[in-house]
Amino acid sequence: MAIPNLKLNTGHTIPSIGFGTWQLADGHEAHDAVANAIQSGYRLIDTARIYRNEKSVGQAIKESGVDREKLFITTKLWPEDFGYQIGLEAFEKSLERLGLKYLDLYLLHWPNGPERKDAWRALEKIYHQGRCRAVGVSNYMVEHLEEVLNHSDLVPTVNQIEFHPFIYSQQKPVLEMCKRHNIAVEAYSPLTVGRNIGHPKITEVAKQIGKSNAQVILRWCLQHDTVPIPRSTNPDHIKENLRIFDFSLSDEQMNQLDSLSEASSWPANQM
Ligand code: NAP
Repeated sequence: MAIPNLKLNTGHTIPSIGFGTWQLADGHEAHDAVANAIQSGYRLIDTARIYRNEKSVGQAIKESGVDREKLFITTKLWPEDFGYQIGLEAFEKSLERLGLKYLDLYLLHWPNGPERKDAWRALEKIYHQGRCRAVGVSNYMVEHLEEVLNHSDLVPTVNQIEFHPFIYSQQKPVLEMCKRHNIAVEAYSPLTVGRNIGHPKITEVAKQIGKSNAQVILRWCLQHDTVPIPRSTNPDHIKENLRIFDFSLSDEQMNQLDSLSEASSWPANQM
C-alpha cells in the first residue's frame, strides 16, 4: 500500500505516517521491528542517538533492499551533545552508526539549555552542506520556536511533539504556531505509549466505524495534519497501524476526541 506524502517547507516530501523506535533494544528487537515495518510499507523511520539503537536500525535499513531515495530517515541530537563543534561531531557519529551517507531529517531532541542555539547553528551548517535534507526540532513549545525564528534565517522544517487526544488542548498553541510558519508537526507517542489506547470514548468511536482503537487515534492525528510515528514490535499491529487511509472521522468524532484532553492531566514523556 502506497503511503501518501506531505510537502515540506524545503520542497521535499515526508510520508504521512512513520515508524518509531524508542525503547527498542539494539540488536534483534530494533532490527526485526524496523525490518518488519519497512517490509510492511513504512518508509519513514524515526530513531535518536539516545535510543542507542541506530546501529541495528541502520542494519535493517541496509538489508531492506529498498532504494535509499525512497526512505525518510530521522535521527536526533541529544542535549549532552549540544554545541557547535560537538553537534557536528555527534551528527557524523550518528550517520556512521546508521551506515548512511545522508539523513532526511535531523532534530534537536529537547530545547534544553542555552547551548541549543549553538546546536541549531550546527544543524544549519549540516543542512547547507547537503548532509541532511531537512533539519528541525523536537519538544519545542511556542517560546522555543520564537527563539529559533528570531535568531536564525532557517525555519525548522519539522517540530516533533507529543501528540494524541489526551494532550490536545495543551499542544494546540504550538500546533497552530507550526501551521502559521509552515513547520510540519510529527506526532510522537501517538498511541499514548500504549497507556490509554483502550479509553472508553476511543472504543466507542472505533465501534461506530468498525476500526481498531489504534487506527482511530492515528487517523485523528492525520486529520490534525500531523505525521504520527507509532512504534510496535507486533507484526499485526505494525500492519494495522498503516491501514488508516481508507476512512475518516466525522467532525463530531474529532471534537469528541479533542475534548478528551480537557479532563486529563497527562504526564509528559522523557525521551
Ligand atoms: P506509541 O507509539 O505511542 O505506543 C507504543 C505502544 O503502543 C507499544 O506498547 C505498542 O505495543 C502499542 N501499540 C502499537 N500499535 C498498537 C496497536 N495497533 N494496538 C494496540 N497496541 C499497539 O509510543 P512511543 O514509542 O512513545 O512513540 C512513538 C515514537 O515516537 C517513538 O518510538 C519515538 O520514535 C518517538 N518519540 C519521540 C520522542 C521525542 O522526545 N522526540 C519522545 C517519545 C517518542 P506493541 O509493541 O505490542 O504493538
